[in-house]
Amino acid sequence: MTCIFCEIVNKNIPSNIVYETDDVLAFEDISPQAPVHILIIPKKHIANVLEIESNDGKLLEYLLEAIRVLVAKFDLNERGFRVVTNTGDEGGQTVHHLHFHLLGGRPLSWPPG
Ligand code: AMP
Ligand code: ZN
Repeated sequence: MTCIFCEIVNKNIPSNIVYETDDVLAFEDISPQAPVHILIIPKKHIANVLEIESNDGKLLEYLLEAIRVLVAKFDLNERGFRVVTNTGDEGGQTVHHLHFHLLGGRPLSWPPG
């Protein structure tokens, strides 16, 4: 079965890319839930946060670096923002390639639905 985010990494499916390195890609969510709604993903396929392995430490650092750069790029440092990774059925995960949602640009309520 093909993975839609692997297809985005391979540029077989178009996306609005906002950050790219050798290991990490970030692009606008196709169905934004806030004025800023970016998905940050590892280029290599990892199904979810539980599938991260002990030798992925550097990759995690790169993902966090992407978040920091994007928070600055979208001017969210002072306003605040949310980073979410939905996992599994009850977590609401619909795409089974690890991704961090970066949400911001409006007040975000808590708890989430
Ligand atoms: P989740 O439901 O947490 O697995 O998040 C998957 C996210 O991927 C959803 O917010 C979708 O709107 C988003 N999405 C699905 N397909 C695409 C696509 N082709 N381009 C950008 N975002 C997408
Ligand atoms: Zn994938």
